[in-house]
Formats: sequence, structure tokens, C-alpha cells
Amino acid sequence: MSSAKTGGRLDLTGLVKRYGTSEPPAVDDIDLTIEPGEFITLLGPSGSGKTTTLNMIVGFTEPTAGRIELNGADITRMPPHRRNFGMVFQNYALFPHLTVAQNIAFPLRERKVPAADSAKLVGDALELVDLGGMGNRRPHELSGGQQQRVALARAVVFSPSVLLLDEPLSALDRKLRQSLQREIKRLHQELGLTFVFVTHDQDEAMTLSDRVAIFNRGKIVAIDTPTALYHRPTTEFVARFLGESNVFAGRRLGPDVYAWHDRKWTVGDGDGETLIVRPEKIAVALDERDVPSGSNTAPAEVTDVSFYGTYHRVELAFEGASDGGGVGGCAVLPVGAPAALAPGARVIAHWRPEDQVLVAE
Ligand code: ADP
Ligand code: MG
Repeated sequence: MSSAKTGGRLDLTGLVKRYGTSEPPAVDDIDLTIEPGEFITLLGPSGSGKTTTLNMIVGFTEPTAGRIELNGADITRMPPHRRNFGMVFQNYALFPHLTVAQNIAFPLRERKVPAADSAKLVGDALELVDLGGMGNRRPHELSGGQQQRVALARAVVFSPSVLLLDEPLSALDRKLRQSLQREIKRLHQELGLTFVFVTHDQDEAMTLSDRVAIFNRGKIVAIDTPTALYHRPTTEFVARFLGESNVFAGRRLGPDVYAWHDRKWTVGDGDGETLIVRPEKIAVALDERDVPSGSNTAPAEVTDVSFYGTYHRVELAFEGASDGGGVGGCAVLPVGAPAALAPGARVIAHWRPEDQVLVAE
């Protein structure tokens, strides 16, 4: 199984999929290069074209236009079995009448691998996903998490250069999901294959991926590392989709000044019109004198405080002051925040200008 020393490189160019002539394209002219051995996640709301993109890469769905290359060779019209990619689905898709070992051996039989080699590969694959000794069970005798491990083993047993995973953890509960996330991360490190992972879960995307491509309406609207997308989102959609944000729809008054209602703030990063501050970048003071100089400030009322063990989450209603309007937001504060921070408290929310970002609509 370790024969695939390096993962494949994928180049998608001008890729389009139209299911009907009247509807907008499900995938609308995407360009994407996936590096060998990279773990890339396609993240986006339901219906944004993630599965369609994955199915075009694996060869189940024929593109309407565009080109797919594997290591520089055109595979756009190549049948799926010749691409030799591994695939894992949300609903395990195991054969119920076959044992675990027979399920994992299935792709080897299709490839006419001799029985002795097959037995060795299946044994290795079972060990790889921590299911040693379970080869003779049937799928219905396994938990959902174990079944998904079998599906993973079956998808990598023939040493593919690319592994495609379509919401593989979405059917599992939270605890199991987290343990399988770690398992998938470890598999990626051990096997060195290129992973293309689809999810609608932002936390999953952030913890697993080298890069995340954010999909919206068939287009890739942002692509970068999780930290770059989180700290320097370029649009409001990206900021809202990945992590939480305090969003102030004010306007820029000049190169250095941003106005939101009667507040005037120092401009930091970015060149859009909407100002975003992540919750953990906001601090809360009960007294003006506790606000460090140079901070941007907004008076707010505390509307709720919840304790999460390692932090407090404080819901805020920012006041637009003299002209009325305000906006809801939140701050995440370290444990040990003053007891006076209770619902109804009036506070001064503050942050450093370099901790905010101006994004496009
Ligand atoms: P996602 O995986 O991001 O939820 P999909 O790629 O499944 O999105 O779907 C993208 C769009 O294409 C949706 O509007 C969906 O309804 C449509 N679509 C997907 N598969 C088909 C199909 N086989 N026939 C017609 N429309 C489809
Ligand atoms: Mg999907």
C-alpha cells in the first residue's frame, strides 16, 4: 500500500457542468490546481457545486466544458476505473453480503491482483485503519465509525494517487466525527496521497486542510490556507462562512478613517467597504480608562454571557448611538472576565485596528 509515494497533481481548467439548459451551471468555470500530496477541502453551502466538482474529478460526471489533468496528462474523458482514484462517500456504500476483508479486497479483485498479494494488502489496510482482527465481520456488525474506516481502507488499498472524500463524516455524531477527523489526518500524513475532501462543516475544513476552496453558486470565491482565510477574508461571504464575525457596514471616509454611525475608527488591513472583527479580537472594558490608546471602540450592551470551560462568550448589542441603528455581535473572552459582565451591562468594546479587516461585499 505504500507504493504510492507521491500524490497526483490535479489541474482543473475552465471546468463547467450544466445539468439543464435553463438552470445556472452547477459548476461555473472553475480553475483549480491541487498540488501533489496536498489536503484540499472544498467547502460551501449545500448546492454550491462541491459534489459535482468531485464527481467530475473522479470521472462519474462528464464536464460540459473545461479540462482536467492528472500530472499534466489530460484525463477529462478518461473512464473512472482508469483514473484509479479512491473515493469515500457519506453513506459508506459497503457491500452488506461481503465480509469486511472481502469489501476491502473488492477493488483488488477488479484489478486482478493475485490472491496472495491481495491478502497481504487487505491485512495492511485493516491495520492502517485500526481494524486488525475484524476482517471476518459483516458490515452490519460494525458501528458507523468502523464502517467508515472500512470504506477508507477499501479506497486506499489499491494505492491510488488521489483520494476523494465526499462528506465522509456527515452521518456520524460529533465525538466520532472528531476521532475520525484525526484518523483521516493521520492517513493523509502516512500515505502521502493527494486528498480532495468535501464538507459543509467549517470546523472540519479548518482543522484538516492545507488549503480550503470556498464554493458559492458553482464558483470558487476564495482559496487559501485556513489561517489566511480566517484572518484575512476578502469578502463578507467568506468571513461569515468561515468562523464568526462582527460585521460593521459603515463606510470609508478616507485612506485612514472608517465611519460607522457616529463612530470614527482607524483603518487597518483590507480595502473593502465592510469592517470585520473576529470575536476573539474584541476586548470589553467597563471603564473608558481601561481602553488602551489607539484602539477602535464601540459602546455596547451585554445581552448574554455563556461559559464554555476555556472561555466566555459574550453577546453584544453595539450601539449606533445618536442616529439609532445598531448591530449584534459577540466577543470571546478568556476565563476570569469580570463578574460585572452580566446581561444589561454597558461596556466599551475595543480592538486594535490591525485586528480588523475591511472586506468587499
Ligand atoms: P453540493 O455538493 O455543493 O451540495 P451539488 O454539486 O450536489 O452541490 O449540486 C450543485 C447543483 O447542481 C445543485 O443546484 C443541484 O441541485 C444540481 N444537481 C446536482 N446533481 C444533479 C443532477 N444529477 N441532475 C440535475 N441537477 C443536479
Ligand atoms: Mg454534496
